[in-house]
Amino acid sequence: MISGEWPVLAVDLGGTKIMAAVVLPDGKVLSRKYCLTMADRGPGVVIDRILSAVNGAMAQAQLKTSELIGLGVATAGILDAKKGIVTTSPNLPRWHNVQLRDFLAKKLGVATYIINDANAAALGEHRFGVGRGFTNIIYLTVSTGIGGGIIVNGELYSGADGCAAELGHITIEVDGPQCHCGNFGCLEALASGWAVARKAVERINQGEKSSIIELVDGRLESITAETVEIAARLGDQLAANIVRDAANYLGVGFANFVNIFNPELIVVGGGLSKMGDMLLKPARKVVRERAFKLPTRTVRIVRARLGSSAGVIGAAAYVFDQQLGNREKA
Ligand SMILES: [Zn+2]
Repeated sequence: MISGEWPVLAVDLGGTKIMAAVVLPDGKVLSRKYCLTMADRGPGVVIDRILSAVNGAMAQAQLKTSELIGLGVATAGILDAKKGIVTTSPNLPRWHNVQLRDFLAKKLGVATYIINDANAAALGEHRFGVGRGFTNIIYLTVSTGIGGGIIVNGELYSGADGCAAELGHITIEVDGPQCHCGNFGCLEALASGWAVARKAVERINQGEKSSIIELVDGRLESITAETVEIAARLGDQLAANIVRDAANYLGVGFANFVNIFNPELIVVGGGLSKMGDMLLKPARKVVRERAFKLPTRTVRIVRARLGSSAGVIGAAAYVFDQQLGNREKA
């Protein structure tokens, strides 16, 4: 045991990879272990992979589970946090009502909590990242999909069922393209990584010229948001237009958040946030044009700071909060 420290074990379960980490109360990551999720193999295999990542992180930190104050699992999908169930997850095929919390708690013998991954990242940024010291924060992760987290009065807002803050699925264009969730014109269907890539393929197929084609050696199916970003930086007009359109849609979403929540901070994480001002500058302009003046003057729209560790750090923060809450109730 590290003297005076109470470590938490945290897991970030994503569609592609799993990260397990041991995190200290000051947000410092003591050890970290990655492995592939192998999501297509179904829940049984994925849970085995979680256990192996967890054992790796524990061994690296030279800890036993009896020395932990808890385990926090950040996972993509719609969770019933009270029951500890992953009800469904777009990135985890065949996960329907999987009792993840109780299974891991029993297997590892440690108090276990589950939290939506974007909610966890919001909490992580609030406690240990760019949102430290702020009270009202909207967090948006813009990657392949778009997830969100809401901090109100310094606390994570989770709603009646614990599934609040699906900010990627607010409707931006009533007759817009269909989203993975089934609805039409969601922010995710217009401004996420897959939306940007899909738009590029669509416009090239319509005959538009672009250096994107050379960047993927003519294999349009290999186009990602990153390809579009690179082309835009190299001065490609089509790529620049697609990024600007995505940025404008994000701006419309932000303007809604500003009018609803009057936040001090909108924090943007995820892969597309690496575009920096190329994405955020046009989005800020839309906010100035659309949102009310007073909250617009207050809000700052900034990039997240914790990077790929946001999920584990946030899941750990969630465990610290829950444990503190339990102690206060006792
Ligand atoms: Zn949607």
